[in-house]
Amino acid sequence: MSEKVRKSEAEWKALLSEEEFKVSRKKGTERAFTGMYWNHHERGTYHCVCCGAELFHSSAKYESGTGWPSFFTPVDPARVAEVVDRGFFMTRVEIVCAACDGHLGHVFPDGPLPSRRRYCMNSAALRFSSEEAHSEPGA
Ligand SMILES: [Zn+2]
Repeated sequence: MSEKVRKSEAEWKALLSEEEFKVSRKKGTERAFTGMYWNHHERGTYHCVCCGAELFHSSAKYESGTGWPSFFTPVDPARVAEVVDRGFFMTRVEIVCAACDGHLGHVFPDGPLPSRRRYCMNSAALRFSSEEAHSEPGA
């Protein structure tokens, strides 16, 4: 596995917008239907807003009706780590970027076939790069 990305809180704050910092470093949740990507349909990849790791491809995005961008599978399951989150009345599975531990959202067992998984993301934890405008050298 690749090296972990570690930065101090002040360093993350300098790199991210206030909303991005609140979501990705403080486990915040943006309000449904307010984020940049819940209704976004371009072809391309969604990267971790913190460290740039490629997390999801637009081909795995689907309409969940929740108001948050939802995917049925990550680009590589090793890039999205799962952490059991025992909240007030229910246990949820939090998902974090495996490279930098940035909070992404939660994964639920009610997604479409074949994975039946719903990766419920915060737009503020993602940065989209369009396939048309972007080519990755050496990738
Ligand atoms: Zn990351």
